[in-house]
Amino acid sequence: MFYFSKSKYCDFRQCPKIPWLKKYKPEEYVVDEATQARFTTGNEVGDLAMGLFGEFVEVTSYKEDGSLDLNRMKELTRQYIAEGRDNVCEASFDYQGLYCAVDILRKNGNGYDIYEVKSSASPENPVYIIDTSYQKYVLERCGVTVNRVFLVTVDTSYVFDGVLDLQKYFRVTEVTPLVDEEMKGVEEHLRAAEKVMASYKEPAVDLSCSCDKPYPCAFFGYCTRDLPAPSVFGLYGLSFKKALALYEEGVVSFEDVLGDGRALDTGKQQGNLRRRQVEYALEELGTYVDKAGIAAFLSTLTFPLYFFDFETVQLAVPRYVGTKPYQQIPVQYSLHILRNEGGTLEHREFLGRPEEDPRRALAERLIADIPDDVCVLAYNKSFECTRIRELANVFPDLSEHLLKIQENIKDLLDPFQKGYYYNRDMGGSFSIKSVLTALYPDEPELNYHSLEGVHNGSEAMALFPRLKDLPADERKKAEEDLLKYCALDTYALFKVYEKLRSVL
Ligand code: SF4
Repeated sequence: MFYFSKSKYCDFRQCPKIPWLKKYKPEEYVVDEATQARFTTGNEVGDLAMGLFGEFVEVTSYKEDGSLDLNRMKELTRQYIAEGRDNVCEASFDYQGLYCAVDILRKNGNGYDIYEVKSSASPENPVYIIDTSYQKYVLERCGVTVNRVFLVTVDTSYVFDGVLDLQKYFRVTEVTPLVDEEMKGVEEHLRAAEKVMASYKEPAVDLSCSCDKPYPCAFFGYCTRDLPAPSVFGLYGLSFKKALALYEEGVVSFEDVLGDGRALDTGKQQGNLRRRQVEYALEELGTYVDKAGIAAFLSTLTFPLYFFDFETVQLAVPRYVGTKPYQQIPVQYSLHILRNEGGTLEHREFLGRPEEDPRRALAERLIADIPDDVCVLAYNKSFECTRIRELANVFPDLSEHLLKIQENIKDLLDPFQKGYYYNRDMGGSFSIKSVLTALYPDEPELNYHSLEGVHNGSEAMALFPRLKDLPADERKKAEEDLLKYCALDTYALFKVYEKLRSVL
């Protein structure tokens, strides 16, 4: 018997190789932080949506080992349908091995409507139509009349006023005509999928735009394992689409890229940086330094120097009055202060509490910690500047000082993005982590991997909202981990500054 699920079907439609690799080579699947965060957010939003139409029953059931008890779920679904329940959540069906669970199955006359809940803000994603057409196919084969199909997405314009209004938080979009059109091909796709999944031979599928859309594929590392490293896909600032177009023309290795020239001779700064990336990799050169450029940048800085970095959270379900879903909310900052060249580094920091809106306390501490006339250094400053402007908007009484801090921010990314300093080990990435590793390859104190608990912004973002649910000792440890992570970010800025000074 051919067993398939909704997620496998969607995978198959993205690329036939994905479900095959998941079955035969699951060890090659690499879940990145972004994917993991999407799963967590999806569950939170899905749970919330169950109450969208008032009273509901949920069929989710687990076995003793913690896995889903699909048989029990199907049995409960049958029972609730027979009882004529209006809203059945996670309603589960199986047609000859084709399994699916409907987020909300809603009674409509003699039939039902399907509501598929997505944590995303956009109902336009074509994968959602593929997803719901599979559901409708399975339900109809199981004898359920499906009248209409809807997508439930998050309305990011919704402003939380203290009481979550599900009708305003969610946006419901009917997609029945699109689903009916897509339904025409489901049978054929399933036949093709059955063949692929039954074969031990890996499907011969080359790289395509599916490798990057709708999300970067978790098997990309596996599927590019035989390409020269580095390859066209690692070129600085080149979109996946453009890299793929070159790849399809046989421009794959850095030698190819250099010979072809199109990705390099763009007449723009990015093209120049790519040329340097390629030449330094091929010729095994070490560090490029434009002393005049670095000197010009450093001459714009004045003591005391404030090295500054925010951490933010983006809550799918807003918790603080006046905020919107997925709004960037600053919850933490770190500040290293150097009063004069060779002076002792001072450190200040702030970490809010998830139980209350941290923005007011953070803004007050910020203006207490940073005078309005000092030079502040951030990395990729547009993020910090935007957050400070947002704070100034929310707190007009603090806005004058906040806006002055924002005006005084200089960007430590500039010398790298302008090509004044390049090291082959940066590999075409100017993220603070890549730059730091390239500048200080042998300093464990600057290695984010040697931190305990929190190693990157995504982990910090995920941990902060959970602080309130942790037992006191675990919370204390988690808060220390967050503080250490953010402190390393600004210490890293100081070390980058030091390195630039030293090359002069
Ligand atoms: S990386 Fe591309 S080719 Fe490989 S499985 Fe994913 S989508 Fe398919």
